[in-house]
Amino acid sequence: MPRILIAGYQHETNTFAPSLADWAAFNRGDSFPAFVRGQAMRDQLSGINIPVGGFIEAAKARGWTLLPSVWAGAIPSSFVTRDAFERIAGAIVDDLRAACQAGGLDAVYLDLHGAAVAEHAADSEGELLARLRAVVGPELPIVASLDLHANLSRRMLATADALVAYRSYPHVDMAETGARAAELLARRLAAGRREPLAWRRLPFLIPLNAQSTWQEPAGTLYRQLAEIDAANGTVLSFCMGFPASDFDECAPMVWGHGAQAEAAVDQLYAAVAEPGQWRQEVLPAAEAVAKAITLASDASRPVVIADTQDNPGAGGDSNTTGMLHALLAQGAGRRFPGEVALGLMFDPAAAQLAHQAGIGAEIELALGKAVPTFSGKPSDPPLRGRFLVRALSDGVCTLTGPMMRGLTVQLGASACLEIEGILIAVTSGKKQLLDRALLRMVGIQAERLRIVVVKSSNHFRADFQAHASAVLVAKAAGPMAADPGDLPWRHLPAHIRRRP
Ligand SMILES: [Zn+2]
Repeated sequence: MPRILIAGYQHETNTFAPSLADWAAFNRGDSFPAFVRGQAMRDQLSGINIPVGGFIEAAKARGWTLLPSVWAGAIPSSFVTRDAFERIAGAIVDDLRAACQAGGLDAVYLDLHGAAVAEHAADSEGELLARLRAVVGPELPIVASLDLHANLSRRMLATADALVAYRSYPHVDMAETGARAAELLARRLAAGRREPLAWRRLPFLIPLNAQSTWQEPAGTLYRQLAEIDAANGTVLSFCMGFPASDFDECAPMVWGHGAQAEAAVDQLYAAVAEPGQWRQEVLPAAEAVAKAITLASDASRPVVIADTQDNPGAGGDSNTTGMLHALLAQGAGRRFPGEVALGLMFDPAAAQLAHQAGIGAEIELALGKAVPTFSGKPSDPPLRGRFLVRALSDGVCTLTGPMMRGLTVQLGASACLEIEGILIAVTSGKKQLLDRALLRMVGIQAERLRIVVVKSSNHFRADFQAHASAVLVAKAAGPMAADPGDLPWRHLPAHIRRRP
């Protein structure tokens, strides 16, 4: 039975964002399980909706023997530090060497993101793959799964035997993609050589907000991908890319493995490469609030506003105040007292104060932070005022939505603060608001709100969209550009257009 070394390295790098992904960030994990090595990795990650979780289950079903190495994932942010990358890559290389020396290693599976930029290695997954390839030589199969936001490099394609990406955004199919990687590995092992590969890169960036597969055009395009696969016996992937990683291969990519890969890739490319379909409406903060108030007046379900430029799933710190200022300026909370909410606001000091004061107390504070943004100007100032402490929580929350059901996150001291009828979910840990349980944790029932502002770009759709009367996307000042054309690119080649 095949013996397979498994490892994970996940980071989505917004090179324009304020905070680095250092070794401590990988040890916390935040939106991912924390750093773990060896057998504990297998024990902790089995059954979780992440790619390696799906790969472990698939390997079990196939009777493969797994050699768990390292899992390392950190919340999206700016560059992975040299130190963090070298520790992670070093540990995987050491484990691989040991496995090779022990003998009988048949393959390597990696759970990668594909848009991780290290301080000293722009294509850090390509670098990792190359270091592993140097240990195992040209013949041993290396297969990896990738996030749908991977910015695939030619080096990654050339170094791995096969690569496969998620097909859903929100990423409800992470474990499924790990299982698909296992299928590709089984094909590779059975064939005894690499399957033919074909790839084509799109000549423009796709804004994050246009990428959701829970809306068009992506919904239809990924259904087409599956149909083309079925007709050709290929395993295709389409990465829409992460349009905030400033390196020279940041762009969407179509690729596929299989005897008919060339024709299948051409067919899918023709469908995805039409630029007009990727243009989407994003409203300035004030306009989004005005529209939400109008819509909410006669809706029976909440209007959701995505505060996309502060999405901590894309490099934001989940602490800007632009949307709060806009809600206050238009009296949204006076109009609908206790039925307007915003989350998650990452502000450990505010959460601490709330815990010291207790439920029912009023506290004076400056909530949130002005952070550096890609425009060169900082985001809006902190919100100074008197807040009522409505609820407190220890921040331990088991998620219930479709994306990460069953995962327990630890967000530290958390609270619900109220100002002028607006409820704010404040936490001491950073987490994208992709699950209603994160609001419930501090006593906010999302379904009963009129307006809810979520610090998320698209992942919130998995658990909020079905309960919403409308979804608006707003552009308040923050570190993640809704329009990649707004970013001060330095390394993107001239032939890649900044907008579709
Ligand atoms: Zn992603």
